[in-house]
Amino acid sequence: MSYTFALVGNPNCGKTTMFNEITGSTQHVGNWPGVTVEKKEGKAKKLKENVRIVDLPGIYSLSPYTMEEIIARDYIIDEKPDLVINIIEATNIERNLYLTTQLMELGVPVVAALNMMDAVEARGDKIDIGKLEKHLGIPVVPTSASKGQGVKELMEKALSVVQTAASGGGQSSQKIYEDDIEKCVSDIGAIAAKELDSKYNVRWVALKLLEDDERLKEKLNIPASLLTIVANCREKLEKQYNNDMETIIADNRYNFISGIVGKTVKKKSGSGLTLSDKIDKVVTNRILAIPIFFVIMWFVYHISISTLGDYTIGKVEWLMGDVIGGTVEGWLEAAGAAEWLRGLIIDGVIGGVGGVLTFVPQLMILFFFISLLEDSGYMARVAFIMDRIFRRFGLSGKSFIPMLIGTGCSVPGIMATRTIENEKDRKMTIMLTPFIPCGAKWPVFAMFIAAFFSDKAWIAPSLYIIGIGVAILSGIILKNTILKGEAAPFVMELPEYRIPRLKSVLIHMWNRAKAFMIKAGTIIFVASGVIWMLQSFDFSFAMVEAENSMLASIGKTIAPIFAPLGFGEWKAAVATVTGLLAKEVVVATLGILHGIGEVAEDDPTLLAGIAQSFTALSAFSFMIFTLVAAPCFAAIGAMKREFNSWKWTFITLGYQTGLAWILGTLVFQIGRAVGLG
Ligand code: GDP
Ligand code: MG
Repeated sequence: MSYTFALVGNPNCGKTTMFNEITGSTQHVGNWPGVTVEKKEGKAKKLKENVRIVDLPGIYSLSPYTMEEIIARDYIIDEKPDLVINIIEATNIERNLYLTTQLMELGVPVVAALNMMDAVEARGDKIDIGKLEKHLGIPVVPTSASKGQGVKELMEKALSVVQTAASGGGQSSQKIYEDDIEKCVSDIGAIAAKELDSKYNVRWVALKLLEDDERLKEKLNIPASLLTIVANCREKLEKQYNNDMETIIADNRYNFISGIVGKTVKKKSGSGLTLSDKIDKVVTNRILAIPIFFVIMWFVYHISISTLGDYTIGKVEWLMGDVIGGTVEGWLEAAGAAEWLRGLIIDGVIGGVGGVLTFVPQLMILFFFISLLEDSGYMARVAFIMDRIFRRFGLSGKSFIPMLIGTGCSVPGIMATRTIENEKDRKMTIMLTPFIPCGAKWPVFAMFIAAFFSDKAWIAPSLYIIGIGVAILSGIILKNTILKGEAAPFVMELPEYRIPRLKSVLIHMWNRAKAFMIKAGTIIFVASGVIWMLQSFDFSFAMVEAENSMLASIGKTIAPIFAPLGFGEWKAAVATVTGLLAKEVVVATLGILHGIGEVAEDDPTLLAGIAQSFTALSAFSFMIFTLVAAPCFAAIGAMKREFNSWKWTFITLGYQTGLAWILGTLVFQIGRAVGLG
């Protein structure tokens, strides 16, 4: 006889190790059709029977939300392997059993490998295998894949199960759900058995219909009579339990699991908590998590933006202005360069690029701390904490990962939404990711902070909080209007804390800084030149004072739009538009328009210029506008690619910019009303 066994388990449960143990070196690696998820197959070694082993993707659940889950589930129900080997990480049994309860419902025989038993023993914990088998209703074989222990027994047990199944023996199903749910399942099942022509297990189909599983509904042609009874059942149960159906079913599974774990797992008292667990008890604590996050962020920004930042700004300004600017000016004069060329190079390029570079050293310090937080494993906790908050608002925690990436740059953040399977959650995440302040927005914030708020370290982290707040608020609005639907549940893996390695932190920091400087040397360089030209010539290409230039005419036309936000002056208005090229160009623009020349002859620096044309209040309103309004063209391009729709791109840009205008107006008007400026 020849059989096919599928290996299924959570990520990191030891599936690959087990696969290698079972197959030796006879494996074939390819991809699942149409996707980039790896597919591995091999032949079990040292067995009389011919057994093909298929390694399915690592998953936490069989819901149809991620590519991996869909691949694994479709494989099991459509290709019908003879048996599923469910690998359970024994050190994390409670979470792993969630998948097990779902596998047991598919109608395919399941054998559980309770893996990493060596780690359980090392901790001094005890698991009663006999009881576990009895309560689960499936065979359980203890294994240690990395030591090759229990693998032979596992395969023998698996073979005996398929042979029993072949001769008509089946696995008895355990009682997981409350009676009234079971009643609905059997009512739906009875009709499904009569009216549906499907090769799937009837009870499973009934459960999935109850859960309103879109993917299964698409696969099967469900008659209206069946849909009606399903809808009635859902309505009745949801009312009775005052919850949505998916949550009711998940709760039942969790109750079943915690009952079993309570009866079969004995933790050695006092132990069981690793150092990581202990740190997490505090760091991800429901009440402490957010204050701790805020304190860490405050500290990071206090050091990089206020303390060290103040020092480095002075140094770079001196370097750019006195040293480089002065030297180049001397050369140009000596060479007898035309006035316009001197202006272009000194005021345009050095003023613009230099304005941006002013903030590079403090950004590098900031990047250093962020890399430190990432490498230590803390950022994964932040995602976990945010997931909890997001879910409370009905948003998917999956949205947070793209946002986290978006703190570097929105473009990869928006691209990372590809991992979100649920289309509505994905659209929403694309719309929300740019609200998280990216690296390019920091020079803008740093500039205003240096000019107005250098003694207020809370301003910088508060921009994060405002960004997250705007994202959550927008999520709630979108969920209740154009993107109605349920959020997909999300389980996350928390890596152990590690002491970061200095080398890798420095490499991360350098990569970010390098990307920043390349941008300064290309797009910001060119933009600075163009902006200088526009502010030096009028429409008849005569060289004029900035006040009469092309840029001023354009700026004065749009400036009234920004008057309610407190910066209805043409220079600031122009900067909001040039910021579309890249957010740093806002700084370059203000650097060219303010830093040099007529505004502050006695103190010709960018910060002095800014301090003259903004107030603290209008500066804050400008930061809020920059934070929330349409992102740069690169991010807009990424949005268009990921939405694959101009309509959605424009809806998003309109929403972001409109919201930015409203928030900026509120900040300024309320601030003024209460006497802040
Ligand atoms: P996969 O993600 O499910 O494919 O997991 P891997 O096979 O890559 O294993 C994840 C980690 O767990 C690796 O570091 C393995 O060495 C380790 N591992 C696998 N099986 C065992 C085991 O039985 N005991 C212990 N202590 N570690 C194991
Ligand atoms: Mg693997």
